[in-house]
Amino acid sequence: MKLSIVIPCYNEAAVLNDFYNEIIKIAREIPGNLEMVFVNDGSRDQTLPILKRLAEQDSRVYYLSFSRNFGKEAAMLAGLRYSRGDAVVIMDADLQHPPHLIPEMVEKFQEGYDQVVAKRSRKGEAASRTLLSKLYYKVINRLTDVDFMDGVGDFRLLSKKALKALLTLKEYNRFSKGLFSWIGFKEYVIEYENVTREAGESKWTFKSLLNYGIDGIVSFNNKPLRISIFLGLTITLFSVLYIVTMLFQVLFQGVEVPGYFTTITAILFLGGVQLIFLGIIGEYIGRIYYESKGRPNYIIDEKKMRQVEHVREKSTSRGRISHI
Ligand code: UDP
Ligand code: MG
Repeated sequence: MKLSIVIPCYNEAAVLNDFYNEIIKIAREIPGNLEMVFVNDGSRDQTLPILKRLAEQDSRVYYLSFSRNFGKEAAMLAGLRYSRGDAVVIMDADLQHPPHLIPEMVEKFQEGYDQVVAKRSRKGEAASRTLLSKLYYKVINRLTDVDFMDGVGDFRLLSKKALKALLTLKEYNRFSKGLFSWIGFKEYVIEYENVTREAGESKWTFKSLLNYGIDGIVSFNNKPLRISIFLGLTITLFSVLYIVTMLFQVLFQGVEVPGYFTTITAILFLGGVQLIFLGIIGEYIGRIYYESKGRPNYIIDEKKMRQVEHVREKSTSRGRISHI
């Protein structure tokens, strides 16, 4: 069998050599042969030169290099499109995804599983982040139809069948965690201890995590829109009841001037609710806007890659394809 490993890299110069060495070490434990598909996501450090050197030294190393930073989702998509293995493993470059799990993943693949998922514990993580994540998974699983598992990221093995299914999903706004779950297939979960980053730094900030969280919810359902209808109806019902009582008061007890509190509360509250739902609607419209433009998810600047049948080349790449 042939195994592909897809690695999105953004400013990973500090760890790439270590990462490569680790993979080489476990390569001996994997039956069949292996290829590594690195995707340089517009790094501003020495990532690309290092990848080029690795690719020169080792014919199993391939790389794609984007014209700018397009984000990890785009990098994963590109790597997956170009992978040619019977199975493909997606993993981070920073050694937070322990390579020693790969042989076990391959074993499970050979037993017939189409997705082998690595699930991490939350050891060594800030307590606040753990708490927020737990809360988030509770909410998202309530809201969406697909299953999201806490601690499960993009570190996983996909069979060719699962990969083909994944690549048929053409949406521009890609939330892979959900897409993996959406395609289904027989899944096996391997648990592992959380590892902290080897070197370099995480690209996640609180703000980007929050945005990622919102993406997850909005990508997979239209329940927020449904909630807005229900909330709107409830508030309208209460307002009508309130208006009717007020009307009776006015009719039977005369006009009461002090009403500042209720007026201001109603204005503020309704204003807030309306803004929230305007935002939610805007979110969906924004997505429709992006989808309707039909832009590619990334632009490739240069690459060392053999042509794969499931990639339709657009004439965006400057570099030539080198055949090995
Ligand atoms: N990454 C990427 N493009 C980006 C951000 C991240 O390709 O715009 C890659 C990064 O090089 C790494 C992986 O995605 O291999 C995970 O990133 P990071 O380690 O920063 O995330 P964390 O592990 O903290 O969730
Ligand atoms: Mg990391």
